Amino acid sequence: MSSETSRGEWYQGRGLWQHVPEDDWKNWGWQLKNRITTPAEIEKYFTLSPAEKRGCAFANKKLALAITPYFFNLIDFKDEDCPIRRQVIPRIEEMETSPEEMLDPCGEDGNMPVPGLVHRYPDRVLFLVTDRCAAYCRYCTRSRLVSNSQGYDFHPEFEQGIRYIESHPEVRDVLLSGGDPLLLADRKLDYLLGRLRAIDHLEFIRIGSRIPIFLPQRVTPELCEILTKYEPVWMSIHANHPKECTLEVKEACDRLARAGVPLGNQSVLLKGVNDDAETMKALVHRLLRMRVRPYYLYQCDLITGSAHLRADVLKGLEIIENLRGHTSGYAVPQFVIDAPGGGGKVPINPEYVKVVNDDEVVIRNYEGRMFRYSRHVGGVQPDPAEQPEQLPAGWILD
Ligand code: SF4
Repeated sequence: MSSETSRGEWYQGRGLWQHVPEDDWKNWGWQLKNRITTPAEIEKYFTLSPAEKRGCAFANKKLALAITPYFFNLIDFKDEDCPIRRQVIPRIEEMETSPEEMLDPCGEDGNMPVPGLVHRYPDRVLFLVTDRCAAYCRYCTRSRLVSNSQGYDFHPEFEQGIRYIESHPEVRDVLLSGGDPLLLADRKLDYLLGRLRAIDHLEFIRIGSRIPIFLPQRVTPELCEILTKYEPVWMSIHANHPKECTLEVKEACDRLARAGVPLGNQSVLLKGVNDDAETMKALVHRLLRMRVRPYYLYQCDLITGSAHLRADVLKGLEIIENLRGHTSGYAVPQFVIDAPGGGGKVPINPEYVKVVNDDEVVIRNYEGRMFRYSRHVGGVQPDPAEQPEQLPAGWILD
């Protein structure tokens, strides 16, 4: 189980596996080989609840069950509602589909010009390079293809994806995702990044990965060297709860930062995991201490079988309201909904602009106090001809 460390309040993930030689524990191959993948293995450590037991029985028909020993160790075995446990131990509710849920909630399949490459925004693409992850999140947006439990039969085709980007000069930004791109062998990753970096019009390469959280041992000096070789390579990690910010993760983030990788974090708002302001504040503060900028807080997508983990949108707004102005601006992520069906990310904010008229903008601060900001320049009202034709919805002109 996790424990506080002598070096401050960073948790450590070794606990139960003290008997394993240090070299094995720190070896990412060993971690992968020794993943917990069956209910029987889990029950060596704690008794599954009836809902979890039934969930585990069906898990491999929906999204594989796999947890690295390192991450498993963060579970509080005595607490059925442990936020780490809720993220990775299947429950029977996963097998229930609510009317609003979808297999492909972000409409990715309809925007794939070649298999595995989603081109939805004009200048950027999402490149799915593997269907494997170090561990599987029970709310995964891509559970239709990740781990291949649903027979999606996804075979990432690097060559086709690379050729598509090469022949589309409007693409200046690629996000490598999956599955988890850092699960690729060094040689493959080196090849992929090398090919992408050789494309002149491709300015921005970024990787979305939960490896630093599930398997910080994977962040080896060799991996860091590859990332440095093709710099700048940006990375979004995925931590949802402060307990995930262990000493091991902190050290992995430190290695990445020293290799020149700018780090951001994407969290998903999850019921019983991080749907309260206090937990989220503890998470974002720890992230900043690890040199990771909280980037997005996602409303959980309407993925099939996720109802038991989805928090209300208003919870997310309440959390942002409790962060903005109450802590460092760098600590406040943008709350977004990935518009169902393929509309892209839409920022969702508490209402800070109350009124806009020809003379002024009336704004509200974090304490609820109202302020007026004059729109006059040199005492003159703005020229109506220069006013934007379409004001954003929700603005009040009186
Ligand atoms: S790491 Fe990402 S892709 Fe993999 S299961 Fe979790 S959310 Fe899905």
